[in-house]
Amino acid sequence: MSDNLMRVQPIRNGTVLDHIKAGRGRKVLDALDLIDKGTTITLLMHVPSKKNSSKDVIKIEDRELSESESQKLALLSPGAHVNIIRNFVVAEKNVAELPESISNVAICSNDNCISNNERGAKTKFNIINGNPLSIQCVYCGRKIAQDNIIFI
Ligand SMILES: [Zn+2]
Repeated sequence: MSDNLMRVQPIRNGTVLDHIKAGRGRKVLDALDLIDKGTTITLLMHVPSKKNSSKDVIKIEDRELSESESQKLALLSPGAHVNIIRNFVVAEKNVAELPESISNVAICSNDNCISNNERGAKTKFNIINGNPLSIQCVYCGRKIAQDNIIFI
């Protein structure tokens, strides 16, 4: 466990998202839809970090991330660390890596896209650029820049 993680009050069970890009933590929280869900969450912003000079950290108690939540994190802050905490110990440590494509994580902004008009259709995007983030719908070809991505 890094010094910075120790500085944060430890949690017994849950997930600590570490090394989130500074200032990006709030966006991650919004995308993961964790607010007002009865989960205890701590957001630390601009925590001093040797690695990137400053970072955001999110502690989520008694909960681990689903596959689609991990993908959202990877999109918003590739390189973030996902630490699964069990009984105060880091049981698993993963790095959120930018996927090549995402399914059912975001909505296509093209109203005429088949993914918006066919019942039960899943959305799928290829990641065409990581920084700044840009994704492209595999059905209609619409490119969507990071600030316009609407997560499901
Ligand atoms: Zn589309």
